[in-house]
Amino acid sequence: MPFTEEDQAAREYLLHEMHSIGLETRVDEASSVCGVRPGNTDKSHAVVMGSHYDTVINGGAYDGILGVVCGLEVLRVLHENQVQLSKPVELIAFNDEEGVRFNRGFTGSKAIIGHVTDEDIWKTRDRQGISLGQAMQQAGFDPTLIGKVQREPEQISAYVELHIEQGPVLEAEQLDIGVVTTIAGTWRTFVEIIGRPDHAGTTPMHMRKDPLVAAAQLIAKLPGFAHLVDPQGVATVGIVNVEPNVANVVPAKVTFSLDIRSQFGGAARQVTARVIEEARSICGDQLECNIRMAMEEEPVHTDHHIQQVIEDAAKENGYAFKRMFSGAGHDAQIMALLCPVGMIFVPSRSGRSHSHLEYTTPEAIAKGAQVLLDAILTLAK
Ligand SMILES: [Zn+2]
Repeated sequence: MPFTEEDQAAREYLLHEMHSIGLETRVDEASSVCGVRPGNTDKSHAVVMGSHYDTVINGGAYDGILGVVCGLEVLRVLHENQVQLSKPVELIAFNDEEGVRFNRGFTGSKAIIGHVTDEDIWKTRDRQGISLGQAMQQAGFDPTLIGKVQREPEQISAYVELHIEQGPVLEAEQLDIGVVTTIAGTWRTFVEIIGRPDHAGTTPMHMRKDPLVAAAQLIAKLPGFAHLVDPQGVATVGIVNVEPNVANVVPAKVTFSLDIRSQFGGAARQVTARVIEEARSICGDQLECNIRMAMEEEPVHTDHHIQQVIEDAAKENGYAFKRMFSGAGHDAQIMALLCPVGMIFVPSRSGRSHSHLEYTTPEAIAKGAQVLLDAILTLAK
């Protein structure tokens, strides 16, 4: 969790590891831990490996930190073998990617591209009412200096992130490496349906205005809507709040989240629009239906050249790979606004993630790290 004692301990550990392999280190004002191995001829145009070191509550030991650990391993190999590369190679361990504490996320990577605003710092609060800025101050950071974290496009020539897949595809298809082509777009909406609270025993069925029945009808249709535009599109209702949530009262109001994702531009928007149309049709004039948009993010594409570099590395090592999209969000989608990005996926056992059951075998991780090393050797030579 960002800006806690454990978080501080993680930074100290990473700095210690980075020092031990000869890196120039610093922690920036967004609490990202950066370690640089200077280039021989080029002072700028760093090739950056990155991932996040924060996690979710009751999460596993791989999401995020695996990309940091593999980055350290790549830099250790370069250091021990005194490999000469023209470009600098940097590892950035980002903080607060998950957004667990402040319900926001990507703080470290957004700071690098200059997208953390005063409003983000002072208006986003955790459950105790502590703002992001206050939490940063308590951890010894100066939030007024966060603008200094921003990098210029010419400072980074490529960004490569290794991450667990967090889904079941690579394991099911017995593949070693996923070459990520796209990070799916996400449209998140909150739907509120208002009916009329009545006695559950005395109100005949035909005289009710039950918003939960309407919500259930809509939610049951989602598997069909998910594939309207994209056969691999997904639609999820993860939050349902029923008021008053009492056994003997016909519900007065139901609020639920609608999370629609697709790798195709415009697809999540189209599906969301269709679902909203259906919601209004189900509600008719008996129920009130209100819609609030919470997130509208189009898909982000990784760089074609970096995709090819990753694919070539997998091929040369004889690893089984496929090109695939990521349904989950990653720091790479933020970095893509600054520089060309690429992503390497390694398999997740049973597709489990954001759970203590998250697991990737050491052998599978070694293959991912090898591909990362080979990609960095090509990109930084
Ligand atoms: Zn992650």
